[in-house]
Amino acid sequence: MRLTHHIKVGIEIHQQLDTSGKLFCSCPTVLREEEPHFSVLRRLKPTYSELGDLDRAALFESEKKKAFCYQGYNDTVCLVELDEEPPHDLNRDAVSISLTVAKLLNMTPVDEVHVMRKIVIDGSNITGFQRTAKIAFDGWLMDGEEKITVQSLCLEEDAARKISDTPEMMTYRLDRLGIPLVEIATGPDIHSGEQAERVALQLGRILKATGKIKRGLGAIRQDLNISIEGGTRIEVKGVQELGLISTVVEHEATRQRNLLLLRDELKKRGVTAVKPKVVDVTDVFSTSNSKVIRKALESGGRVQAVLLTGYGGLLKTELQPGRRFGTELSDHAKVFGGVGGIFHTDELPAYGITEEDVKAVRKKVGASENDGVVFVAADVEAGLVALNAVVKRASEALKGVPGEVRAFNPDGTTHFMRPMPGSARMYPETDVPSIVVGGDLLDKIRRALPELLEKRTERYIKECGLSKDLAALIVDSPYAVTFERLVKSDGLSPSFVAATFEYTFKMLKREGIDMESLDDRQIRDVLVRVHKGEIAKEAVAEILRWLASNRGKSVEDATRSLSLGTVDSAALKAAVAELVGKNMEIIKRDGERAISPLMGDLMKTFRGKVDGKVLHELLKEEIRRRLETAPR
Ligand SMILES: [Zn+2]
Repeated sequence: MRLTHHIKVGIEIHQQLDTSGKLFCSCPTVLREEEPHFSVLRRLKPTYSELGDLDRAALFESEKKKAFCYQGYNDTVCLVELDEEPPHDLNRDAVSISLTVAKLLNMTPVDEVHVMRKIVIDGSNITGFQRTAKIAFDGWLMDGEEKITVQSLCLEEDAARKISDTPEMMTYRLDRLGIPLVEIATGPDIHSGEQAERVALQLGRILKATGKIKRGLGAIRQDLNISIEGGTRIEVKGVQELGLISTVVEHEATRQRNLLLLRDELKKRGVTAVKPKVVDVTDVFSTSNSKVIRKALESGGRVQAVLLTGYGGLLKTELQPGRRFGTELSDHAKVFGGVGGIFHTDELPAYGITEEDVKAVRKKVGASENDGVVFVAADVEAGLVALNAVVKRASEALKGVPGEVRAFNPDGTTHFMRPMPGSARMYPETDVPSIVVGGDLLDKIRRALPELLEKRTERYIKECGLSKDLAALIVDSPYAVTFERLVKSDGLSPSFVAATFEYTFKMLKREGIDMESLDDRQIRDVLVRVHKGEIAKEAVAEILRWLASNRGKSVEDATRSLSLGTVDSAALKAAVAELVGKNMEIIKRDGERAISPLMGDLMKTFRGKVDGKVLHELLKEEIRRRLETAPR
């Protein structure tokens, strides 16, 4: 039997929408990297829910006693993001796009869109909650023969983006706060990592078909809810690369299986509880050569230890590739206690800690061969909190897999991020009026449903004359909408535009150039100028490269700086006319054969500035005109 049959996965996709304004104000939905214009400082207090329970997750964050710094720009952040002014009405465009996606996913729209407040405790929303509105429910999509349910589609405001995180201060930038985001959640119907990847890809393509989504890193984020039989639902946050999904799922399934085996082994050893008794073992290390320990002691810290009775040898159990049970304990110590890490007896002697040190520590806490000992060198209070977190996590191993939110590592393994948030977390947002989703609106959406990507590929082959490969590439590309616009509205050559996106852009990306930093206006400007003959095709890559590394500059700045100097067509024509006028003798003698030597002269002046083909055409035209009008 394949173990993957026991895996259950649900995907939650978050996709930013490309609306001109934010969800509750009209600030533009633009992110920049330049220095922020202002910053404000806030502190977060734990909030009591209406049921009177202190939200568990909120408590967890406030325990960390952090201050929050919020940065912003005057033109992309207003009083709404700062929570100094009530939210404006819900952005209608965002509602329409969401309803369109819902329709494509066979969902039932709600009768009325109500905005709710969802408690958010990491400080990423200055209000302490995120506004969210359910748009539709109960849909499906097909993965081959299998029906995957789509449980809900919500429209949400994106959170502020994290800039830095120190033990004292968390810094966020508010420009991202309020950008409309659709959140689509599938049912837990997915059975393997590969299937999860396919479903995520399909959801992504349906979102793309609307042509109204943001592109670039962070514009789409996937959360995965993963469990195995006998395990527990674990939420893995923020997977941005599709290619990582299958690995993340497989590694999490492995971790849960190994935790269940660990539980069984602890049961077999008769372990039923972990005593939360912290012992000071600083004496042992008074002459220690361990750098970490010496550093902690020199700054007034202590070495404290806890005994894990019956855990001997289990701390080195590998749960995921390269991550052991001891690593899990360490994650908890780091997150709750803010310590740099832990030492445990399964990995010692090492790090300058000797066999004698280990023996002495064991003796001090009363450990036998079958027991494990964890110790921390840190400030007394931090060490206590860290070891209590270790005891708590070690106790949870007796039950199996604790429910928690995890973040992924670049290799597809995951680490502990925070506990699962408590339940009662939604309250009505009374500042925003609801929107009735009437028949008129739905009719309008039905009539304007976007063409699905398969259909569009066929059309590009037939109508635009693109090759099958290029058509498939451009349809799936984040630049599909831009492509269509440039071809339709600006009359540019489809194959030239498609090739620019699929070949030139990709080549520059491979060079490490941030192509996402270019906006549609800049891209259009470059390509239209090529079309008009003002810029040579050969110079496109060079200009795009320059624009991407010189934010906020214009195409004119680029050509000037690269001394490509755009040539306006009047000046070009005048230059051609002048050259032809000077050489009429040769032209009269050789006719159109005179083009070649004259082209040589022209290229000397205009190489890299004007496309060779354009020059050739202009020259030919001018020679013909002169020959026709010249006296014989
Ligand atoms: Zn605003």
